Amino acid sequence: MTVLVYLEHADGAVDEPSLQALTLARHLTGGPVDAIATFADVAAGLAGHGVETLHVAEGDTFESYAPQATAEAIVELAARLGATMVVGPGTERGNEVFAHVAALLDQPLAANCVTAATSDGGADVTRVRWGGSLLEVARVHAPTPLLTVQPHAVAIETTEAAAPSVEAFSPELSDGARALRVVDRVGAATGGISLADAKVVVSGGRGAGSAGGFGMIEELAALLGAAVGCSRAVTMAGWRPHTDQVGQTGTKIAPDLYIACGISGATQHLAGCKGAKRILAINNDPEAPILASADYAVIGDMHEIVPALAAAIRAAKLA
Ligand SMILES: Cc1cc2nc3c(=O)[nH]c(=O)nc-3n(C[C@H](O)[C@H](O)[C@H](O)COP(=O)(O)OP(=O)(O)OC[C@H]3O[C@@H](n4cnc5c(N)ncnc54)[C@H](O)[C@@H]3O)c2cc1C
Repeated sequence: MTVLVYLEHADGAVDEPSLQALTLARHLTGGPVDAIATFADVAAGLAGHGVETLHVAEGDTFESYAPQATAEAIVELAARLGATMVVGPGTERGNEVFAHVAALLDQPLAANCVTAATSDGGADVTRVRWGGSLLEVARVHAPTPLLTVQPHAVAIETTEAAAPSVEAFSPELSDGARALRVVDRVGAATGGISLADAKVVVSGGRGAGSAGGFGMIEELAALLGAAVGCSRAVTMAGWRPHTDQVGQTGTKIAPDLYIACGISGATQHLAGCKGAKRILAINNDPEAPILASADYAVIGDMHEIVPALAAAIRAAKLA
């Protein structure tokens, strides 16, 4: 069985969701897998992840994110290798690339899987649906099942394997392949800590009361070396940019600690933060839904509690 795994990269290294996809793929083969990336430098970091050959799609088009072109490269390589399954990370971009692959092959895509096994004529999968509120057990009927792996749902496992051999190839691209690609980047004002990667996130909801109410959230976040997040009620009110939004239609995060201040805990919000190892809720409503998902809670007015927390941390740092 030949499984091809699509790898994304960030800052020159394969990102965590891709390494999680590799682990799931190795469970399928019981051995090494083939991988495809658009950046050769990631090869060294793949030692211990069971990739036999890293196929690198080369060409100007791949210098930035280009989902249609990447999908065409995956389709070409999967055919050449005779891949029996194609797996990738279930990130926003991974799912976009795989949607293009599915369209090109006219096949179904099972996105956001947490388990997978081969079955007669396809694959049996368990996947996350409805913003994380439902686990679906499904059979995918397809000659080459296409699966993406739910980020942060599969623990990365390493092996003794060496770094893969690297084979570059120049895929034949359609005329339209370059139509959709990143041509420029505008940095978000994140204070230097990326919401998606932060180990601690301090988020504010409608309970913050105003854009100005985020001053105390920012202060607490700075003391903890944390990123600032928020709920959709906040972005809808224009208090914070959409890049700060946590949730189903925002960023999905998996920090060690998530501090939710004045956030009710709607399912669409929890879909973005349920990967957190610990949740601390600060809310004046003892019946707020977020308390059912919280490991710790402080019931009271966040306008008193958050500054008090910041003062206690500042005092502890000075002691
Ligand atoms: C298709 C769809 C997608 C969505 N995607 C997202 C998403 O990605 N992210 C997201 O967050 N939402 C999303 N939503 C919206 C979601 O359903 C909720 O409306 C939203 O999360 C509510 O935000 P909130 O918790 O800040 O506000 P509220 O629900 O109004 O809750 C405010 C909370 O603050 C508490 N509070 C008030 N004052 C204080 C105080 N002084 N001190 C302490 N606590 C206080 C209240 O008790 C309450 O629990 C989506 C909705 C839909 C329909």
